[in-house]
Amino acid sequence: MGVNENSLHGRCLCGAVGFQVSGPFGRETVCHCAQCRRWHGAPGPYTSARRRDMVFSNERGLAWYRSSTAARRGFCRECGSSLFWERAGDEQVSIAIGCLDEPTGLAARHHIFVAFKGDSYDIKDDLPQWPDGNIVD
Ligand SMILES: [Zn+2]
Ligand SMILES: [Zn+2]
Repeated sequence: MGVNENSLHGRCLCGAVGFQVSGPFGRETVCHCAQCRRWHGAPGPYTSARRRDMVFSNERGLAWYRSSTAARRGFCRECGSSLFWERAGDEQVSIAIGCLDEPTGLAARHHIFVAFKGDSYDIKDDLPQWPDGNIVD
C-alpha cells in the first residue's frame, strides 16, 4: 500500500474544533500506554501528519493539556473529544484517527507501548507489537 496523500477532514464531537489535513500520513499506530488509555478510555488509534499541513476551520474549542514535560494533548474544551498528541519542537502532530471523516484510507499498522497494555482486553490481531514507542521496521 502506498502512502496516503489524501486530504482529510476532522472534527470533534460537537464541531467546535474542525480542521483539514493533507498527507503524507504516517505512523498509523494503536497506542496502549497508560496515558492514552486514560485519555481515550481505550487504546489510542493515531496517525500523524505535518503541523504545517493542517488548517483549522474552527479552533473555538481547541485546548491543550500538557501531559508531560515533552508533550501536550489537544482536546475540545466544549465536548471533551481527545484529538491530538504533539511533542514539543516536533513538526509532526499525532491525530486520533477516530476524529477523521470516513473513508480515511488509514489502518492501524503497529501496536505500540504494549508493555503498558491494560489488563481488560487482549490484542487479537496479527499486527506487530512493540514494547515502547520505537518501531523498528
Ligand atoms: Zn467539541
Ligand atoms: Zn500513548
